[in-house]
Amino acid sequence: MPQPSLRIDIDRLMARIDALAGVGSIEGGGVCRLALTEEDKTGRDLVVSLMRHLGLDVSIDRIGNVVGVRPGMEDGAPVMTGSHLDTVRTGGRYDGALGVLAGLEVVATLNDAGIDTRRSLAVAFFTNEEGARFAPDMMGSMVHQGHLPLEQALETTGLDQTTVREDLAKIGYLGHAPCGSVRAHSFVELHVEQGPVLERDDITIGAVEGVQGISWTEISIIGESNHAGTTPMSARKDAGYAAVCIARFARRLAEQMEGNQVATVGRLQLSPDVINVIPGRASLTIDLRNTDAGLLRRAEQRLHSYVRRIGKREDVYVAHRSLARYDPVVFAPSVIAMVERQATALGLSVRRLPSGAGHDAQAFAPNCPTGMIFVPSVGGVSHNVKEHTAPRDIEAGANVLLNVLLELAG
Ligand SMILES: [Zn+2]
Repeated sequence: MPQPSLRIDIDRLMARIDALAGVGSIEGGGVCRLALTEEDKTGRDLVVSLMRHLGLDVSIDRIGNVVGVRPGMEDGAPVMTGSHLDTVRTGGRYDGALGVLAGLEVVATLNDAGIDTRRSLAVAFFTNEEGARFAPDMMGSMVHQGHLPLEQALETTGLDQTTVREDLAKIGYLGHAPCGSVRAHSFVELHVEQGPVLERDDITIGAVEGVQGISWTEISIIGESNHAGTTPMSARKDAGYAAVCIARFARRLAEQMEGNQVATVGRLQLSPDVINVIPGRASLTIDLRNTDAGLLRRAEQRLHSYVRRIGKREDVYVAHRSLARYDPVVFAPSVIAMVERQATALGLSVRRLPSGAGHDAQAFAPNCPTGMIFVPSVGGVSHNVKEHTAPRDIEAGANVLLNVLLELAG
């Protein structure tokens, strides 16, 4: 039976976080452990040896995901936790690493207390969550849960012109276990918020309700380059002006829509990009996100119909193509409530919130009861060497994880 006094050892957890942050460490306290590089291999080796040290049954699957299982008293699918070890080029020390090492800290705590659970427990780390060298992101968890074909993932060519298969073989993590051979009874991931909400509201634990849907569109506009002084305003085919109108529309759209709609124009290029020439070509990207699937579709439709109208009005040719699209993910109400309940039982402040970023947990959501626990990110900063979470918040998050996993595993 779970003991109400059972707590993780924060000193041991922080020491392990420090040790892993030493692999691929960069100036300013950050980490560069890009997927399937030498640094990734060293980080993986470190965590695998820790898994073995804790007595877990370790398997590596064909996309390089690693799962360590702590057998329960009954057969059947394990309650799973985990995250990722890869980082972006200028990453922090907690994004991903926290979820994996906190999962192993839960195992260490149960081992020390001699507690057996009814269901098995599993701690996993998934290949290429960040997508910094190979697209798409969340590759390992998407293959694991059957959303991305294994062969397609293995044949993906990255920024360095190598394939996922080649690089997995090179670092010794092209495993033999079929992907998803360890099925999950349920999945819970602890992660840093990577946003400002918890810190701003002075809340320790986030009970994550789901992940925003994401729609990336690239818009290309072809007009006519001409002289900035001699071309009458009425005779222009100004691709640059059309692009700016679309960017302005995207901002207004987000402001007018209900709910959590956000819109960002992250890239805007004009050609020929010269002070006294009307741009003949323009391209821009639009990133739309919403937690509601219907509202996200509506935002896309409104954007597309505006793009058509602006093409006609400005007499330019406009084309758009989708670069990426993920529907919003809703986590299991039972798991969200469990996170709230366990946090409250530990005397911690807790609130529900959506995730603005993608996570491995979202791959599991359609297939089993899934949830996430967030802890505050100082200043809301992440994907940055300055990423920081206070040790007492890490301790709180890991203790909530411990109790949620115990409740799920029985
Ligand atoms: Zn992450």
